[in-house]
Amino acid sequence: MIFHKIPEIAMLNFLISKIAISAARVQGSLQMAQQMAQTSDEDNSAIPVCPLHVGDLFDTLDSLKKACREYAIRTLFEFKTLRSGTTRYEIACKFDGCSWRLYAASIGGAGNKFRVRTHSCDHSCTGIQQLGHQQATAKFIADWILPTVKVNPRYRPIDIKRDVKTRLGIDISKSKAFRAKERALELLHGTHKAAYKQMPKYVADIERNNPNSVATLESTSENQFKRVFICYGASAMGIAHCRPLLGLDGTHLKTRYQGILLTATGVDAHGQLFPLAWAVVDAENNDNWLWMLRFLHQVLEQSAPHFLEPTVSPFCVEV
Ligand SMILES: [Zn+2]
Repeated sequence: MIFHKIPEIAMLNFLISKIAISAARVQGSLQMAQQMAQTSDEDNSAIPVCPLHVGDLFDTLDSLKKACREYAIRTLFEFKTLRSGTTRYEIACKFDGCSWRLYAASIGGAGNKFRVRTHSCDHSCTGIQQLGHQQATAKFIADWILPTVKVNPRYRPIDIKRDVKTRLGIDISKSKAFRAKERALELLHGTHKAAYKQMPKYVADIERNNPNSVATLESTSENQFKRVFICYGASAMGIAHCRPLLGLDGTHLKTRYQGILLTATGVDAHGQLFPLAWAVVDAENNDNWLWMLRFLHQVLEQSAPHFLEPTVSPFCVEV
């Protein structure tokens, strides 16, 4: 008999160790949550307490969803959506058999405010036992990092991933951190697509409202962006008082649509860099450089013709 019981004992030990690991994870998460709660008063970006009482009113369905996500992340459980429409919103704890449930309905028809109608706030489950969290979406992370991105646009995805782990106790992928950063930048500055759509108007406005400026936009036969050259009037006039030296360089744009940024920079009387003109093109090649240099020649002819005279030392061009 004892030979038959050994595997059972081994299995029992295995199960006990699994339970201990799960408990340790939950305990670790709880400790982290407690630390978050303790520091929430000092940390403006910490998630506010969201008790979600019956009768609570939310201006939009999005604000209700956001409050539910914050609540779930703070109290370490995940929920599933049962209904989500223009008039009804119902969610329940993701664990089968758990009694936690929230139901809200719009008041006065579709698109209006939402009021919490019922909320069974007690859990019969043990909460999440993994480091990820279903409600920690890129949209949620974007809202959470928005204040930081606003003051520090160079906030890197790897730093976002680290801060989410240490302050929220949630492990997110680097790609989700990247998407959250992109979304936060879009919330602050609009989308790249919208910005490129505004480019024709922007170029026209520069030439109309900024005297001595040179701004040219080229589109493809499909009416898509091809390349743009911009030299502001102030820069064109200022280069006349700089040293007869012009630096040319190109660098890759790390945005959604990528491309190459070509720049022309002078050196002023104090030896400081003086931005003259820039262009955005699809590739750094002879065709695009020649295209930009023609405009630069036009700028110098208009604003600093003495630089083009043979008596002046030739420009030093660095590519
Ligand atoms: Zn639950």
